[in-house]
Amino acid sequence: MSDAFDVIVIGAGPGGYVAAIRCAQLGLNTACIEQWASPDGKPVLGGVCLNVGCIPSKALLDSSWRYHEAQAGLAVHGIGVKGLTLDVGAMIDRKAKVVSQLTGGIAQLFKANGVTLLAGSGKVLSGKRVQLTAADGRESVLQAGHIILATGSRPVMIPPAPLVDGVVVDSTGALEFREVPKRLGIIGAGVIGLELGSVWSRLGAQVVVLEALDTFLGAVDQQVAKEAAKTLRQQGLDIRLGARVTATTVSGGKKPAVQVSYTDAAGEHTETFDRLIVAVGRRPNTEGVLAVDAGVTLDERGFVFVDEHCQTEAPGVYAIGDIVRGPMLAHKASEEGIMVAERIAGRKSQLNYELIPGVIYTHPEIAWVGKTEEQLKAAGVSYHSGVFPFAANGRALASNDAGGMVKLLADAETDRVLGCHIIGPGAADILQQAVIAMEFGSSAEDLAMTVFAHPTLSEALHEAALAVGGHAIHIANRKKRK
Ligand code: FAD
Ligand code: AMP
Repeated sequence: MSDAFDVIVIGAGPGGYVAAIRCAQLGLNTACIEQWASPDGKPVLGGVCLNVGCIPSKALLDSSWRYHEAQAGLAVHGIGVKGLTLDVGAMIDRKAKVVSQLTGGIAQLFKANGVTLLAGSGKVLSGKRVQLTAADGRESVLQAGHIILATGSRPVMIPPAPLVDGVVVDSTGALEFREVPKRLGIIGAGVIGLELGSVWSRLGAQVVVLEALDTFLGAVDQQVAKEAAKTLRQQGLDIRLGARVTATTVSGGKKPAVQVSYTDAAGEHTETFDRLIVAVGRRPNTEGVLAVDAGVTLDERGFVFVDEHCQTEAPGVYAIGDIVRGPMLAHKASEEGIMVAERIAGRKSQLNYELIPGVIYTHPEIAWVGKTEEQLKAAGVSYHSGVFPFAANGRALASNDAGGMVKLLADAETDRVLGCHIIGPGAADILQQAVIAMEFGSSAEDLAMTVFAHPTLSEALHEAALAVGGHAIHIANRKKRK
């Protein structure tokens, strides 16, 4: 193996591994360094997303939803279930199998594309050199034509709630409970808190979510966020807003308990749980990955400072994914990886940061792209809103899953679609149609004039587009435009 590469990627998460594959496809001699290792010393590929993030959480969301449906959702279809059982251990083991299938797939893709995998931790030195430190401490220095830093993020910890093995856990620990907690506390009503809360609530835990802010899902369109709060509370999630956790105490023994103190507008309170999940956000892994003379600047929160093409202040050194500005999402990391690989290969690729979809995989799903109504109001943009409830969608009713709505926002003058916000069945997949339309500069009328198959959930998007013009067919129109 030569110690010089056209490109060295540090980190094999969805940002890094995708960047490495794209570089190799473009004929660049590429290495990818990953420090995560299994107990038997093999590199673990796929980063947070595949190992302890997107995929395992969705595996458990899916399994828990099936259990919940079997328990409470089938009688209405005339299906009775007797003797329903729950084996949490088997559920967790299935999740582990899905993870290992996908992570193993990356190793194969590296091989097929000729990406050199280097086990160990990488550090950016000056002069586009990378220091590689192997697990046994051996150090070597590699020369790169270009470096892509993709070291990802880890959970934020807060002083009032230090982790206590198996009792007070972060999102990773919450994917590993082998029995259902009776009472489960969650600090933080963000995406991760709500998804993990849903998993364990569906499996039978009493879940209390403590959120310091007064506004629920502040970044989400508030019409959708209000519907989400109502629905999730109806499902049994006890979401308490304006509730700031100030201290936790764990009492040991065979049945450990955690006492959580929090303050809200009414004063101080204490709750006792048998497990507590701390889900208060994530922070970038940028400590120890940059030599002082690497020429790469961090902002005050530790994110790598980059331009719109993910170029750092050091020529030839790029940073992507959770360590740079923008939403901490796997698809954003991967698309940045592809953009950077293509720019290194001399192409003029760009990423449209205005159209990065966000999804919360609760049931119903919550999905959005573009501007919220609040953002348009604040910016003084005049717009038309078209809202269509799933309660009027034949397919949703047929499957007895008709909560929520599709909301489309379009510029009042040009009719260009500016935002789409959905809560409802299949929201993430319906949203993607709006993302494509917006990427092509679609007007609401373009969407309204498109033929949608019947009966589909997607027809709710069609009707929302018709509603922007004031002429949705399957609801009584309150506002009428031509
Ligand atoms: P990471 O995935 O964090 O990967 C970074 C990699 O770099 C890791 O493998 C790490 O070991 C390695 N590394 C770090 N330092 C070094 C070093 N010095 N040398 C070598 N290697 C190093 N996002 C979504 O889009 N959809 C979801 O549904 C979703 N669900 C999530 C659920 C949970 C519970 C969590 C925690 C996150 C979820 N996310 C989701 C977020 C998503 O996982 C991240 O945005 C994504 O993983 C970021 O990708 P990345 O490549 O930047 O970093
Ligand atoms: P996210 O960053 O989307 O994962 O959401 C994390 C949430 O945790 C944010 O909404 C924070 O307001 C919330 N949070 C942070 N610290 C505390 C705390 N001490 N008590 C309750 N909620 C908190």
